[in-house]
Amino acid sequence: MPIATTNPATGQLLKSYDPMSAEQVDAAIERADLAFADLRRTTIDQRGRWLNAAADLLDAERDETARLMTTEMGKTYAAAQAEVTKCAAACRFYAANAERMLADEPADAPAVKAVRALVRYQPLGPVLAVMPWNFPLWQVMRFAAPALMAGNTGLLKHASNVPQTALYLEGLFRRAGFPEGAFTTLLVGSDAVDGILSDRRVRAATLTGSEGAGRSIAQIAGRELKKVVLELGGSDPFVVMPSADLERAAEVATTARCQNNGQSCIAAKRFIVHADVFDAFAERFAANLAALRVGDPMDADTDVGPLASSGGRDEVHAQVRDAVERGATVLCGGELPAGDGWYYPPTLVTDLTPQMRMWSEEVFGPVAGLYRVSSYAEAIEVANGTAFGLGANAWTTDPDEQERFATDLDAGNVFVNGMTTSFPELPFGGVKNSGYGRELSALGMREFCNIKTVWVGRGEASAGAGAHAE
Ligand code: NAP
Repeated sequence: MPIATTNPATGQLLKSYDPMSAEQVDAAIERADLAFADLRRTTIDQRGRWLNAAADLLDAERDETARLMTTEMGKTYAAAQAEVTKCAAACRFYAANAERMLADEPADAPAVKAVRALVRYQPLGPVLAVMPWNFPLWQVMRFAAPALMAGNTGLLKHASNVPQTALYLEGLFRRAGFPEGAFTTLLVGSDAVDGILSDRRVRAATLTGSEGAGRSIAQIAGRELKKVVLELGGSDPFVVMPSADLERAAEVATTARCQNNGQSCIAAKRFIVHADVFDAFAERFAANLAALRVGDPMDADTDVGPLASSGGRDEVHAQVRDAVERGATVLCGGELPAGDGWYYPPTLVTDLTPQMRMWSEEVFGPVAGLYRVSSYAEAIEVANGTAFGLGANAWTTDPDEQERFATDLDAGNVFVNGMTTSFPELPFGGVKNSGYGRELSALGMREFCNIKTVWVGRGEASAGAGAHAE
């Protein structure tokens, strides 16, 4: 893939870059390694001041940064502005909470025959972050803010279609005060990932992206015995039960499917509705989707902008066509628009069967699948019936059912009467083919820490552990 900015609203190539040479990559890794030796010795307080400075820059530069993201990948300008604000808040959250999250945790010393025993959290070293274009600032920040606060350094290989946002991020951390090499953008294609992760100076990796990229990086990490966190795709269920507030559920369903032009890993993609309320929900949902305004992402009135690439749009349309050809019914949308830009209309498809691609694949665009079920058990069977397990939504006002959904849905995140989203305060990640490891909260920060056991004995004969080593 060329490393270039192409405006999805027009299809116009705006800026392209030559990939960095092997020598340039090597020099960047060396700088990250040297910077780690310094950064790990700085205080949490100091790193917090730098991260707060990054937050202030983000706030001050919100509108230009948002415009850049919209130009590179097509999200609406309003959504891009909100993304910048969310990143600033995450920086402040980690600056304020890292001390507590990284504090030594005393253990029960007598129980382990020690004078003193504790768990200490220490950084690992340079971490490679392979990131996607769909939330070009937020995906990176939710790795970078906790990782830098913990004293790691970051090497970013961003998606090839968002090079300017990638370069902005490197400049942001540098201008905020982090030392040279603490956070570096590598303008390289995915073919360079193997070499970078194999480098002995790179200690771990995190990938947010597709299942295919996940398998590839997991293989390299396995071969090299390196820690990796994988945030992969999803086909999140959104279950609507008879007790739900249908008006509200249909409203949130519309946002949950079409936010970010339908290109979110945690977008609700499969709408599983109890037969008692199926028709009433379907009617509201179709009307809401059809009413969304598709158009120029810079326009304040636009709800849904273009998809990020022409290839991505072709793929979404092929999935819809496959379903239609095998007997599915389109309740709204489904037609490829003429004209410039990679637009796709909000689309609702029902009468789906397991033979159709949409049944089991992730659809990365504003296309919703609608399923009719006749019981709680069937809802769970359909909801859990894909290889993914990222997020899940359930709509019910019955407290007993709420509790059962929270337990029975196979997903890393279950949101009841709401839309799946990410918060710095809560862990985020998936199960099954949606990946492993967690981002955000203290758990996300500790993914890139050496969780070190420290045991101190009296240092006298006849005392201490060792009688039963291991
Ligand atoms: P992608 O094609 O997998 O790309 C993601 C990143 O991985 C890019 O930097 C890409 O580089 C790189 N990459 C691709 N193939 C690779 C390989 N074989 N080896 C090493 N690196 C590789 O995914 P995408 O289309 O950009 O993003 C959409 C996918 O990401 C969806 O499946 C979505 O659900 C998932 N996603 C997951 C989360 C989550 O938190 N779980 C969040 C957002 C998105 P190039 O750009 O150079 O190809």
